[in-house]
Amino acid sequence: MNLPIPEQEKLKEVENFATSKVRTRASEIDESSSFPVDLIKEMGEIGVFSTYIPKEYGGLGFSLGTLMESIRIISRECASTALIPDVTVSLFGEPVLKYGTESLKKKYLSRISMGTIGALAITEPAAGSDAAAIKTTATKKGERYVLNGGKTFITNGGEAEFFLASAVTAPEKKHHGITLFALDKEMSGLSVGKEFRKLGIRGTSTTEVLMDNVEVGEEQIVGNLNEGFRIEMDTLNVGRIGIASQAIGISEGAIMDIISYDRKFNGHLKENAMFKLADMINQLHSSVTKYNESISLVEAGKDTTLLSSLSKLQAGDSAVKITSDAVGILGHHSMTSEYPTERRYREAKITQIYEGTNEIQRVIVAREIMKLGAPSF
Ligand SMILES: Cc1cc2nc3c(=O)[nH]c(=O)nc-3n(C[C@H](O)[C@H](O)[C@H](O)COP(=O)(O)OP(=O)(O)OC[C@H]3O[C@@H](n4cnc5c(N)ncnc54)[C@H](O)[C@@H]3O)c2cc1C
Repeated sequence: MNLPIPEQEKLKEVENFATSKVRTRASEIDESSSFPVDLIKEMGEIGVFSTYIPKEYGGLGFSLGTLMESIRIISRECASTALIPDVTVSLFGEPVLKYGTESLKKKYLSRISMGTIGALAITEPAAGSDAAAIKTTATKKGERYVLNGGKTFITNGGEAEFFLASAVTAPEKKHHGITLFALDKEMSGLSVGKEFRKLGIRGTSTTEVLMDNVEVGEEQIVGNLNEGFRIEMDTLNVGRIGIASQAIGISEGAIMDIISYDRKFNGHLKENAMFKLADMINQLHSSVTKYNESISLVEAGKDTTLLSSLSKLQAGDSAVKITSDAVGILGHHSMTSEYPTERRYREAKITQIYEGTNEIQRVIVAREIMKLGAPSF
């Protein structure tokens, strides 16, 4: 990726932070399922949250590539620590930046730049892959809206100061009747429910978010009334590149584990393991190529639906395969916390699930190709 010098320098700083601070904490964060408060504070200070936020809102005004590369670098050490700014910036900051009013931008983006955490709340108990099946309602009451319903499996739920939540505003219009509302944690009627224990990314909080007569003015609507579903899909096109960057970082970490294992045991890897390593590099290269291409499309203002889905699909499936094979190659060593490989194996799985499962990515890819009439790469 060709980045300007100041952005490359920022990435060196992020790498130094990741290898010196995150690496030493990752195992303990996973074992204790603890939210890395100190690392979040430091990421706020060094600018991980602010890379992509424009200067007029207190950010560094760097490219999407620099945000994504930061997530990739941190994911090599700890996928939980990387996910927290990723979700905040790409799932809350990005739609506010692209669709929010000037006053919403001023209200939220400068806080994100300083490391304040945000979340995107779409999923409900009966609305996961089918995001249009939500039951949360926003009912008009004079000039205001009253929200009622419950979201589930919301990343950053426990620590977010603000949420972007989807609600039905025109039930008869199905997915054309959904609106996105920016909600503040302290709003009356908004509460955080159950927190889930997870297979991986245990340092992030994943919770229910409950709305019981949460009253907001129409100035809290992001985009236009009933435009929420389209904005969600557009947001996920960028979000999925973030998940690809996370999956690539996890894969790179697992490959580095194999290299350091081989060096420690003086060329201990068998021929079979070398073959697997070559396959890993092949998969990783394919993931990185698609990921780079999708970032270029976003930066050029082009439609990235196909490439974002391909990136997430390729990088997520590869991360699961690469980490699984890495666990196999390290043999009994990998079953202990002597190597971080078993943690990476558990971290990789979620990249096939959230922001649209990889089955849904396959549906999108097939649909996009049918629309185009032919693959034209
Ligand atoms: C750790 C974690 C963090 C999350 N963070 C967030 C968050 O921050 N915000 C948020 O809104 N949501 C979040 N989610 C929810 C996540 O996006 C959903 O879990 C995901 O979209 C899948 O929905 P579901 O779990 O309800 O599965 P379902 O939709 O019930 O799907 C179950 C299975 O059926 C398959 N399937 C469903 N429909 C189809 C279809 N049409 N074609 C082919 N296969 C299909 C799926 O691929 C899957 O294998 C998170 C989930 C987890 C586990």
